[in-house]
Amino acid sequence: MMSRRKLPGLFSILLTVLLAVNILFMVYVKNTIKDLRKKDLGHLELHAPNSGKENVLVERLGHIEMMVKNLSNSLKLSSNGKDRKLADDVQLSEKSTDGAQAAKKAKKEEAKHKAAPRLRFPASRLFKKWGNDLAEDQQVAAQALFDQYGYNVYLSDRLPLDRSIKDTRPSRCLEKKYPHDLPTISVVLIFTNEATSIILRAITSIINRTPSRLLKEIVLVDDYSSLEELKGPLEEKIKRYNVKPPGLVKMVRHQRREGLAQARISGWEASSGDVVAILDAHVEVNHKWAEPILSRIKEDRTVIISPAFDNIHFDDFELVQYVEAADGFDWALWCLYEPAPQAWYALKDETAPITSPSIMGIFAANREFLGEIGVLDGGMHIYGGENVELGIRTWQCGGKIEVLPCSRIAHLERAHKPYLLDFSPAVKRNALRVAEVWMDEYKHMVYYAWNIPLEKPGIDFGDVSSRKELRKKLNCKSFDWYIKNVYPNLVPQTTIVAYGIMKNTLSEDICIDQGPVLENTPIMYGCHGYSSQHMFYHSTGEIYLGGLRSQRNAADRCMVDTGQGELPFLEKCDEAIRKGLSMHWDFKQGAAVTNRKTKRCLEIVKDQGASVYRLVLQNCTGQKWTIQHTVKDWGRKATAG
Ligand code: UDP
Ligand code: MN
Repeated sequence: MMSRRKLPGLFSILLTVLLAVNILFMVYVKNTIKDLRKKDLGHLELHAPNSGKENVLVERLGHIEMMVKNLSNSLKLSSNGKDRKLADDVQLSEKSTDGAQAAKKAKKEEAKHKAAPRLRFPASRLFKKWGNDLAEDQQVAAQALFDQYGYNVYLSDRLPLDRSIKDTRPSRCLEKKYPHDLPTISVVLIFTNEATSIILRAITSIINRTPSRLLKEIVLVDDYSSLEELKGPLEEKIKRYNVKPPGLVKMVRHQRREGLAQARISGWEASSGDVVAILDAHVEVNHKWAEPILSRIKEDRTVIISPAFDNIHFDDFELVQYVEAADGFDWALWCLYEPAPQAWYALKDETAPITSPSIMGIFAANREFLGEIGVLDGGMHIYGGENVELGIRTWQCGGKIEVLPCSRIAHLERAHKPYLLDFSPAVKRNALRVAEVWMDEYKHMVYYAWNIPLEKPGIDFGDVSSRKELRKKLNCKSFDWYIKNVYPNLVPQTTIVAYGIMKNTLSEDICIDQGPVLENTPIMYGCHGYSSQHMFYHSTGEIYLGGLRSQRNAADRCMVDTGQGELPFLEKCDEAIRKGLSMHWDFKQGAAVTNRKTKRCLEIVKDQGASVYRLVLQNCTGQKWTIQHTVKDWGRKATAG
């Protein structure tokens, strides 16, 4: 098999550059999409109800995925031909027959409806590239399932539970030898109202792709699902996995919805293996996923491991290979992918563990060590924050985190989450717990990023005293140590003096807004307070607009006066500095916003006959602006104006 390293010099440089561009672009687009989905949905809809901007991005991601796929195909990075069963002695033989029959049935059904019927849901994301040949009643059924679960259950129900998936490991992983004598593993799958076939496929992949001598048990944790199919019927179905060995699959049920952090804790509590892997229920583990984890934890019990993720498309269930990356977060504590550190690239070994600041959610750890450092924060609600808390805590309290490129898990990223429409309140609340317990003098960054006042934030984030005690007991290091030694790419802002939405006293129901997501012209727009309207004014004169990323390589955007035309412009702050653009502004609460270099003012105008204001740069006429929050006493004296 041809490996990347054997390619002729120039070609390999070209490919490396292409790959690097892909990584950066994918990281950016993934973040953007995450932002769009999680934070700015309301904003998007407000701006352009039918613009399909989100789809543009999704299609772009698809395009990048295609590029990565083509690239990896051409490099023969991952294709080792057909799927091979790696299970030594576990064979769910009846599954294979089931699988083959189901595949045949699906084919037959497809053929029956070949005469392409009309598309019943042309705007649905489900039917963008799948299902065009379904009969109308089938489309209705598929759409209803999609609405309910956020992924294509219609298709999942027709795919074999033991379907083959592409082996996405870097080629050198295949040459790796692991000790025979490895620790045992318990695999926890948590779920709330997931589809039965999805859960069963996860179980099947684990049984088929984990050596049976190492697989201690699979623990299902039901976080109070309401679906009938997940009660008696699911118990019936898992019986067949429990014949050999008996009791392989266990079930833990919450008596009320406790959220994913507590579900993961419950799974850990019910586990007895040396190592515990805590996964979402909508995954398929890939070939030899467990061995790299177990041998790394055998070497060092203090490593918390994140497998490398690939993506299962929510519509056609195709597997898309992701480029190896580390797991990080922004100051709002939303998770994001970070490029692997330079030191990893320098090793020139694609199988080497990638040191990572945090985890995405799914992880594996030595069961006892995880207990010693406090498992997860059970005070977290519903979703979010628990992964970052584990990341920071692990590092600050003497462990480390690594992503293992040879251990791959395909994760189904849903189009929407059925259990929650808006994640922000939960993530915000959980983020404040993390800030309070772990982030010391940097905790204000979380308040900035969520646009919460530093004093009297008005958010009840629950009792954190036991987590503070834990930190003391474990004698953990400071966040300053963490940020300097583990996550230097997360940049604290030290000069912000005012932040939040910004209004002109001429018209108080409109706010400065970053404008359409893919453009660079800020506008005036009805105040909604989403991150697209969050401004950050620095004592040094910069104005950031559109949320706070503060990643060293990321796109905080600065307001600039290009000196040409009447429109202000948003430029990546790094670029603005590099190009020497006019990006510094004088501003006091309740006063004008004046560009220090061009002396033009940020003002609003109503064109003749128009009913709405536009944001422009012009000779100052004395317009006044107010910003929502101030840091300490900045600008208070000027407020009276
Ligand atoms: N989940 C849960 N309780 C909740 C919310 C989620 O048990 O209140 C489960 C969910 O079914 C899934 C896992 O937690 O298996 C992670 O959730 P999700 O996949 O929505 O999160 P992400 O993939 O974005 O981390
Ligand atoms: Mn998930």
